[in-house]
Amino acid sequence: MTLMSPDSVTPTRVNLLNFDLDGLADFCEHLGEKRFRAVQLFRWIHQRGDPGACQFDQMSDLAKSLRVKLQAVATVSPLPVVSQHISTDGTIKWLFDVGDANAIETVFIPELGRGTLCVSSQAGCAMGCRFCATGHQGFSRNLSTGEIIAQLWFAEGFLRQHSQSHGHSDDRSDRVVTNVVLMGMGEPLQNYDALLPALRVMTCDHGYGLSRRRVTVSTSGIVPMMDRLAQDCPVALAVSLHAPNDVLRDQLVPLNLKYSLHDLLSACLRYLAHAPRDFITFAYCLLDGVNDGDEHARQLIQLMQTVRTHSRAGVGCKFNLIPFNPFPDSGLRPSSPERTQSFARILNAAGITTTVRKTRGGDIDAACGQLAGDIRDRTRVQQRMERLHRPRFLHQESAT
Ligand code: SAH
Ligand code: SF4
Repeated sequence: MTLMSPDSVTPTRVNLLNFDLDGLADFCEHLGEKRFRAVQLFRWIHQRGDPGACQFDQMSDLAKSLRVKLQAVATVSPLPVVSQHISTDGTIKWLFDVGDANAIETVFIPELGRGTLCVSSQAGCAMGCRFCATGHQGFSRNLSTGEIIAQLWFAEGFLRQHSQSHGHSDDRSDRVVTNVVLMGMGEPLQNYDALLPALRVMTCDHGYGLSRRRVTVSTSGIVPMMDRLAQDCPVALAVSLHAPNDVLRDQLVPLNLKYSLHDLLSACLRYLAHAPRDFITFAYCLLDGVNDGDEHARQLIQLMQTVRTHSRAGVGCKFNLIPFNPFPDSGLRPSSPERTQSFARILNAAGITTTVRKTRGGDIDAACGQLAGDIRDRTRVQQRMERLHRPRFLHQESAT
């Protein structure tokens, strides 16, 4: 088998990137093979760090009969790369074609001693958050497990091949991607059925072997799915908060109309009982004159009281302040560095560990909230947002 673009793949071939280990074992069984064969196959696919190693005929420790069957019915389909941009700070952004005029973005952020891959979960997003470029673009469709994993599979292979210090072995300590964050395009918990097997591939010892602490799902707060994630695969959780009260959050994150802050924070407390760390990270995008006043910081401290007192070790939360990354027609401005520092100081003084996120990849539009890919909006989110937010906007109403 050679690696093929989706166009050239026979439709009946099964893309093995869609399977977690259990799914692959089922598939092997379906082919008349023993389930344990899946382990070897899984390791070939996900641990070699070399896309070339995914040719079935080269999988030397697999039985010849299995290799022949796989060649006939299976494939490992990468996503075609539309473009690649490298920032002056080393951040890399890839645009992948997911068919039907949709493209999604993936960002690699190198740091000292670690490499974080920011992965997309949907083509677009239907949540319509006021300050988010993805939200403004609208929603096309969910990504499959294979499309979520293909981003990691490609990035790991590419980075290993292009990094001098990394060879082509299957030694896990060689991994270039040490952390994965589901913070690209889309609301991961709205695509739960595809997300869950993808998380299992990431955290499986025979897959990418990432600890649950090193895989973070970021959500705008889909409460029932937070509860399911806690049961099924409790990885690290980031919650996009952005406002300290319901009136303001209703406007910034429309999902708040369905799941209020009270519901959301109760879900956070339930999650904490299963979380791999003793805290949840709350993301808060600072918007000039909207949610960045001292009074908002004080309201946040009040709001977090329950989470902190009822959590293990009394920690419960950490705050990540995100400088707003403007995009065309957002109608919003970032808070000044002084305001940002003052906001952080108030939270820190109250004992809430707060950091200001460094903007990475800004020169290639790879920073938080700038990922827009290329989406065929099927939901008319764009029109709805324009209508909703046009005449009255938040600057007048933010102090509530
Ligand atoms: N849908 C999920 C994950 C993707 S968004 C979520 O909302 O959590 C990833 C992060 O980028 C979220 O914290 C989001 O609030 C933040 N973000 C969105 N737009 C932004 C912008 N314009 N500037 C800075 N951060 C932004
Ligand atoms: Fe969707 Fe997250 Fe953007 Fe909101 S912030 S529109 S949930 S991607």
